[in-house]
Amino acid sequence: MQASLPFIQTMSMSLRSVTHNPLRLQMRTHARGAMLGLALGDALGATVEFMTPREIRAQLGRHNQIRGGGWLRLACGQVTDDTTMAFALAEAWLLRRNAPAAEDYAQAFDTWMRAKPVDIGNTVRRGIVRFRNTGQACVLPSEDAGNGATMRCAPIGLVLLGAPSDTIARATLAQARVTHYHPLTDAATLTVVNMVQAGVSGAGIRAVMAQANLLVREFPQFGFRGKHVDNPSGYIVDTMRAVLHAIDINDNFESALVEVVNRGGDADTTGAIAGMIMGALHGEAGLPERWLRALDPGVYKRCIDYADGLIERSPAWLL
Ligand code: MN
Ligand code: MN
Repeated sequence: MQASLPFIQTMSMSLRSVTHNPLRLQMRTHARGAMLGLALGDALGATVEFMTPREIRAQLGRHNQIRGGGWLRLACGQVTDDTTMAFALAEAWLLRRNAPAAEDYAQAFDTWMRAKPVDIGNTVRRGIVRFRNTGQACVLPSEDAGNGATMRCAPIGLVLLGAPSDTIARATLAQARVTHYHPLTDAATLTVVNMVQAGVSGAGIRAVMAQANLLVREFPQFGFRGKHVDNPSGYIVDTMRAVLHAIDINDNFESALVEVVNRGGDADTTGAIAGMIMGALHGEAGLPERWLRALDPGVYKRCIDYADGLIERSPAWLL
């Protein structure tokens, strides 16, 4: 991470105290891009979650509008667990002065589940119920490498921008293991956090994709160049291959998101992960106006408030 922030480290002291600090403006608009991108991808993808590409084509043509519906019968602009769990994670940080402990993340997810969200993944439910019954904020290692820890990770990337890599890894894995404990989930979640950070720091697409390449080098099953992944499942390898492929072959936010959700499968989650990465990379200004207008106004406001609150607490902001 440090390597992608050279411009911040060489910045003069006088510049740091200016309100219209261009680097802070960059970080803020791109942090907002990450949170709004997550929500937009979730809202767009939820319409076609669990559909096949063929079913999507038959019913909607090329799905490229936020319109609600889907198996959850959402209102237009409504989001699902991907976004609202990220909100819970943001609150775990913003409601306390110190870095949250694993139990604080578990408590935040428990509170989230008590509020009766529109949907809850099976692995997520198991982890939260286990915390309720045992007080344990870390599940046991499992065979199940789901994508539920990855879909919600954006707030960690924002609040720990510029932090030492071991601090980032500790927080990323603590929040993940409240519900998911598998080496592939760990690696993918940390990769997405790193991709979000590279985007928000202004390091550009090459630095963002360098993180994806590191993941594939360590775990070749995430290889994403070549064949499209249709109907990506909740298995993190399928999910990430679809997301990374779409980001790799599309140079703007809208086309990457349209590409990935039209692959169907776990489309709200592929949309959410692609959205947080592409939103971090392109910033608020890179998000389609018509999608932002369609997003639920309460969700829009929470994305902005959490993005600002998180990034302003990050070590990079305070440099
Ligand atoms: Mn969802
Ligand atoms: Mn999903």
